[in-house]
Amino acid sequence: MAVLVLGGAGYIGSHAVDRLIAKGYDVAVVDNLVTGHRAAVNPKARFYQGDVRDQDFLNRVFDQEDIEGVIHFAAFSVVPESMEKPLKYFDNNTAGMVSLLEVMNQHNVKKIVFSSTAATYGEPKQIPIKETDPQIPTNPYGESKLMMEKIMHWADLAYGIKFIALRYFNVAGAKPDGSIGEDHHPETHLVPIILQVAAGERDELSIFGDDYPTKDGTNVRDYVHVVDLADAHILALEYLKAGHDSDAFNLGSSTGFSNKEMLEAARKVTGKPIPAKMAPRRAGDPSTLIAASDKARKILNWKPQFDNVEDIIATAWNWKQTHPEGYNDRQATK
Ligand code: NAD
Ligand code: UDP
Repeated sequence: MAVLVLGGAGYIGSHAVDRLIAKGYDVAVVDNLVTGHRAAVNPKARFYQGDVRDQDFLNRVFDQEDIEGVIHFAAFSVVPESMEKPLKYFDNNTAGMVSLLEVMNQHNVKKIVFSSTAATYGEPKQIPIKETDPQIPTNPYGESKLMMEKIMHWADLAYGIKFIALRYFNVAGAKPDGSIGEDHHPETHLVPIILQVAAGERDELSIFGDDYPTKDGTNVRDYVHVVDLADAHILALEYLKAGHDSDAFNLGSSTGFSNKEMLEAARKVTGKPIPAKMAPRRAGDPSTLIAASDKARKILNWKPQFDNVEDIIATAWNWKQTHPEGYNDRQATK
C-alpha cells in the first residue's frame, strides 16, 4: 500500500518523501507546484500534478493508488501575505482540507498526518507552549490551520478519520548530503535569508525589532531540523497505524535562540561577516515561541538527531553553496 503525500514537492514535504522512501515506503505525491519543485521529489515516488481542491483530480489519484494514509503539507504559509489576502489562505488551506477529507472518506482512507503550526497558538500566555494551551491565532494563516485542525476533529467524530496534527515551530536546514533543501520565492524565513547575505545575494540582513522583552531585545524562536521533522511524520503515521486515537503534538527543540544569536551562529558556520541592521518590528511577530515537545518524544518516541542550531545552519549552508540558484526551475514550473 502507498502513503500519499500532498505538497510533497515543497520544502518540508520533499524531505518527508525522501525519508519515507529511505525507510521502504511506497510513496505517491500530489502537488500543483504553486510553490514546490518537481526536481525536489525523490524519483522513486509517483508524481501527480494537480490541486487538492480539485476533487475530480483527487478521486482519480485515489482510484489509481491503494492508499493506507495521507500526509498533508499542501498549503500557503506566508504570514504577512495572509494578513493582506486572508481569503487566499482560507480557500487554499481550509477549503483544501474539506476537499481532501471528502475524497478520503469516499475511498475509505482513515488516517491523516497534518502540518499544523505554532501560529495556531498566537501570542503565548506561557513559555514553553504546551499542546493544551489556548489556540488564539493572530493572523489568517494560523487561523486557516486551526480551522483545518477543527475540521479534522469533526470528520473524526463523524467518519472515523483519525488524524495527528503536528504543530511545527521554526523549521530549518536541508538534507545533509545537500541534494534537497529550501527554495522559496520570495524567501521570508530567517535562516535562508541570512545565508543569502552570506552568499552575497543580499547586501545585509534586516533584524525585525530589538525592543522585545527578550535576552537581547530580538525575537526568540525554537528551531527544528527538517529531517528530524520529516521523521516525526513517519512516527505519527505509524502511531495511527497501531490503532491510536487522534492527537496533536508540538515539534520543536524546546530551546530558544534570539535572532541575534542566529546571526552569530551563521557567522561562525559560514566564516562570513554577514552585515546586519536593525529594522522596525514585523507585524504579527510574537516575542518568544518555544515548544514544549516532550509529548512527541514520549508518546511518538521522537528522537531528533540535530540538537544545536549551528549544525542545522551548516546543512542549510551546504545546500546553499551547492545550489546557489536553488532548483533553478522558476520558469519551468511557474
Ligand atoms: P512549501 O510552500 O515549500 O510547500 C507546500 C507545497 O504544497 C508546495 O510544493 C506547493 O506547491 C504545494 N501546494 C500548495 N497548495 C496546494 C494545492 N492547493 N494543491 C496541491 N499542492 C499545493 O512550504 P513548506 O515550508 O514545505 O511548508 C509545508 C507545510 O508546513 C505547510 O502546510 C506549512 O503551513 C507548514 N509549516 C511550515 C513551517 C516552516 O517553517 N516552513 C512551519 C510551520 C508549519
Ligand atoms: N526575521 C528577521 N529578518 C528577516 C526574516 C525574519 O529579523 O529578514 C525574524 C522574524 O521577525 C522572526 C524570526 O526572524 O522574529 C523568524 O522569522 P521566520 O519568518 O523565519 O519564522 P516565523 O517565526 O515567523 O515562523
